[in-house]
Amino acid sequence: MVKICCIGAGYVGGPTMAVIALKCPNISVAVVDISVSRIQAWNSDQLPIYEPGLEEVVKKCRGNNLFFSTDVEKHVSEADIIFVSVNTPTKTQGLGAGKAADLTYWESAARMIADVSKSDKIVVEKSTVPVKTAEAIEKILTHNAKGINFQILSNPEFLAEGTAISDLYNPDRVLIGGRETPEGKKAIQALKDVYAHWVPVDRIICTNLWSAELSKLAANAFLAQRISSVNAMSALCEATGADVSQVSHAVGMDSRIGPKFLNASVGFGGSCFQKDILNLIYICECNGLPEVANYWKQVIKVNDYQKTRFVNRLVSSMFNTVSGKKIAILGFAFKKDTGDTRETPAIDVCKGLLGDKAMLSIYDPQVPEEQIMRDLSMNKYEWDHPIHLQPMSPSAVKQVKVTWDAYEATKDSHGICILTEWDEFRNLDYKRIYDNMQKPAFVFDGRNVVDMEKLRQIGFIVYSIGKPLDA
Ligand code: NAD
Repeated sequence: MVKICCIGAGYVGGPTMAVIALKCPNISVAVVDISVSRIQAWNSDQLPIYEPGLEEVVKKCRGNNLFFSTDVEKHVSEADIIFVSVNTPTKTQGLGAGKAADLTYWESAARMIADVSKSDKIVVEKSTVPVKTAEAIEKILTHNAKGINFQILSNPEFLAEGTAISDLYNPDRVLIGGRETPEGKKAIQALKDVYAHWVPVDRIICTNLWSAELSKLAANAFLAQRISSVNAMSALCEATGADVSQVSHAVGMDSRIGPKFLNASVGFGGSCFQKDILNLIYICECNGLPEVANYWKQVIKVNDYQKTRFVNRLVSSMFNTVSGKKIAILGFAFKKDTGDTRETPAIDVCKGLLGDKAMLSIYDPQVPEEQIMRDLSMNKYEWDHPIHLQPMSPSAVKQVKVTWDAYEATKDSHGICILTEWDEFRNLDYKRIYDNMQKPAFVFDGRNVVDMEKLRQIGFIVYSIGKPLDA
């Protein structure tokens, strides 16, 4: 029986390994992590992450050919294929701080693999890493090799949170990069054999190591760039009376452009887009390509500008002050169908409003109170950031209340701010909400989810990103 071990039981490692276990009953899959609480949660009824369809897969496989454990060394030493899916956040200190990827977790995993391995291993980069990381990993592994053959593969993950399970079942492509040596080719084939259990072979593409590593950064940069492009257009729409949804529709019908990822919003979030573009910027700078770096910087600057613009529009619409006013925040996660709040635009928007002394009443169906309070209390690392964020002061904590119901959150509020496109926000009883609010009642829709005309008929003053403004 082939044995797989995945180091890192996070948003990528957990779902990816659960799907491999489901699709490959003849493979034994161990997911290991240094976080005891995370592993306990994976072994309980309360999984550590919310992802549609995940619980079903885990329940089917757990204890059969899927195991979650903190015994990292044991499972690594027994495995034939080791995926490394640890976090690779942006460095906050030292060389490259604010841009470069922090590979501390990766390096420590690689050193541990080198220390405990007694047989040949295929080591797979599942984390998103800077191009050329495999070269560094090879050095660490082969230096300690004791005659063991380590083959490094790059197999970046393209799943999107919120649709992780369906993305894993039916990926657009699986990318495998490896060395062009006989051993390298053998390792590529072994990993291909795993995916071929359910992925059509024409969707499994093989490249050299550096192309695979760079393709992941490139894909995220292109996706984020599309969002910043449409968001830049949304500002122009508001200034001219054009409607961003109509513009996106017209532009997206061009088959060279396509309709996906053209929704205007308050800005992109999530743990990957900003971090991976910063990483790309750093790599460009290190390779003497400042003009290319500047091109990608603009994607982040427009994203920051969009959040600032949204806060400013809200405050200016509410007669230039929100001091003491209750603002209901609907949605805190960075997108629907996830509880993940890493880099969510909601943090920046809430902090902007708290800075103007608003009272916030926050509701998100998947984000618990402790997580929201923790997110708002943390100081964000600033990179050329136009919103000057401060950690929430003890007095600001009193300005925030978290509720478990949209009606409770909006009761007695002066304005509603929609920051995540949860389906339930489309179907709320807005007449009931309007009746229980202070007047004039405002709605600021950062995701273009509400029917603007219907709300205006009820009596709301509505601002929707990139849409014609209320007369
Ligand atoms: P995560 O923070 O949810 O999970 C990483 C896990 O690795 C943590 O539980 C941590 O405790 C564990 N870990 C760190 N060092 C370890 C070690 N030495 N031994 C054992 N466990 C260790 O991160 P994530 O969102 O799953 O992302 C992982 C990687 O995948 C990142 O490089 C990310 O950029 C990339 N990625 C993420 C997504 C996404 O949507 N989240 C999508 C594609 C790629």
